[in-house]
Amino acid sequence: MSDAKKTPVETDVLIVGAGPAGMAAAIALRRSAPEGAKPRVVVLDKGRSPGSHVLSGAIIDPSGFEGLLSPEEIGKLPVEAHVCKESFRMLFGPRKSLKVPWVPPLMHSRGFPVGSLTKIAAYLCSIAEKEGAEIYTGYAVTELIEENGRIVGARTGEKGVGKDGKPKSNHLPQEEIRAAVTVLAEGGCGILTGKLAEAKGLGGVRRQTYALAIKELIEVPAGTQTAGEVMHTFGYPSADGTYGGGFVYHVSETQVMAGYVYSLDYRRPETDPHLLFRRFKASAAVQKHIAGGKTAAYGAKVIPEGGYYSALKPYFPGCVIVGDAAGLLDSLRIKGVHIALQSGRAAARAILAELKDGRGLETYPELLERTRGWKEIKRVRNVRASFRHGTIPGIIGAGMAWATCGAFPFWRLRGFEKPDSAEMEPLKPGAIEKEAAGAPPASPLSPDRLTDVFMSGTIHDEDQPCHLKILDPAKCAECRGRYGAPCTRFCPAEVYRLEEGRLQIDFSNCLHCKTCKIKCPLENIDWTFPQGGDGPRYTRM
Ligand code: SF4
Ligand code: SF4
Repeated sequence: MSDAKKTPVETDVLIVGAGPAGMAAAIALRRSAPEGAKPRVVVLDKGRSPGSHVLSGAIIDPSGFEGLLSPEEIGKLPVEAHVCKESFRMLFGPRKSLKVPWVPPLMHSRGFPVGSLTKIAAYLCSIAEKEGAEIYTGYAVTELIEENGRIVGARTGEKGVGKDGKPKSNHLPQEEIRAAVTVLAEGGCGILTGKLAEAKGLGGVRRQTYALAIKELIEVPAGTQTAGEVMHTFGYPSADGTYGGGFVYHVSETQVMAGYVYSLDYRRPETDPHLLFRRFKASAAVQKHIAGGKTAAYGAKVIPEGGYYSALKPYFPGCVIVGDAAGLLDSLRIKGVHIALQSGRAAARAILAELKDGRGLETYPELLERTRGWKEIKRVRNVRASFRHGTIPGIIGAGMAWATCGAFPFWRLRGFEKPDSAEMEPLKPGAIEKEAAGAPPASPLSPDRLTDVFMSGTIHDEDQPCHLKILDPAKCAECRGRYGAPCTRFCPAEVYRLEEGRLQIDFSNCLHCKTCKIKCPLENIDWTFPQGGDGPRYTRM
């Protein structure tokens, strides 16, 4: 990869992002092509090591591995537990909850592997590498190259630029990669994907809507818990009917993944998702699973929740979009890994046809629609919108979708006419103080945001330009008066804070979750790429 600014790297396929969707495409491309005609596959990922920017629940529907990995490889997935006991609970407050007596079979995941997606992504990378894919981590791809109406490759960002904008002694220039096909596998709210979709009109029929998922790995005393037990919750601490829920997964006898997912179409500017997560952990129903434990790792990311109607058109000449980047998520089960894997395989089929005779890439949307994952997304296409009307209408909508295999309602429910950023209402006097009152005290099981950030392993070279650009500082002054600077609360890494009335940005804490890009009410933040290799260093999320 050296000296490529003068001599571009030439490859058959460039994959941007080494998460499950990108890795499925890489493995399928190398495995499906006949001997002697294997395409060159180059994968670039901005994380420092394979999987280090990947994070999820994660109970994984194993259907995504079928046809991609051998039974032996599936048997070697780096998970320590499979779901053996499952419950759904409605939380009414910190102490009261009710177990849901009956749950549609569609929602069940008994027998599914449960573990760390970071580890699974790294495992998929190792398989792709064995198959001959070239994986380079620590490279942020910052721009696509378009020529004559076709994407023909991409450029990486510079490294070693000081905060004054000048090259340092370790400066590395941009690299150019020319590819017959570029695969965008950036994950949710991908920057390149978003720009391409906007410029080329690839958006779905409905706007995308996101949720912020905050998660910790909690170490609990041996002999107190059962590996494979999982619990899903809804209700408390979501205060105003905003779609949100929590999960507790026992990934081993001594490790619990606890997470809280909160939709970013929330209206109240005083909302602090990290505080909601702490309240969730402090509730009696969750304490039963984590009492006596201590937080050992932390992370956050956004999830595209809009589903079928918000999914992008995933094809543009020279380019396909896979996985979360395309908005492929089952918004009822909040599961996307298996769909990401299936989309990667579908993309590989289209790419091989394209490489053979220059035609075939445009068949990817059709191949995607034939996957089981796409049919799932379609079946629950109105579920997320029905939750816009509250939890009970949402549950009724979900039940009807299940009972009629997605046939009812026949029409497209209204919702998401506005972006998540525009949902925020003006701050009411005293609302911030009221929201913060009664917060659980900081403890090893309930760390504050900065302690959590430390446990994410996030590192950025501080001598580089800030990657979070405020477009118009005057708008921040307006926002402070109208919304009380909500970035100081919605950021799960405390990157934004007010100091003597002025907004300070500690970009080195950034977890790359993209919430600020989505939820700033005045759309005043431009999320650009820090140098490759910086950011979270997840190892077991
Ligand atoms: Fe408000 Fe956005 Fe400025 Fe933060 S960055 S103060 S949310 S306008
Ligand atoms: Fe997420 Fe933005 Fe905060 Fe970074 S600065 S952690 S992208 S909200």
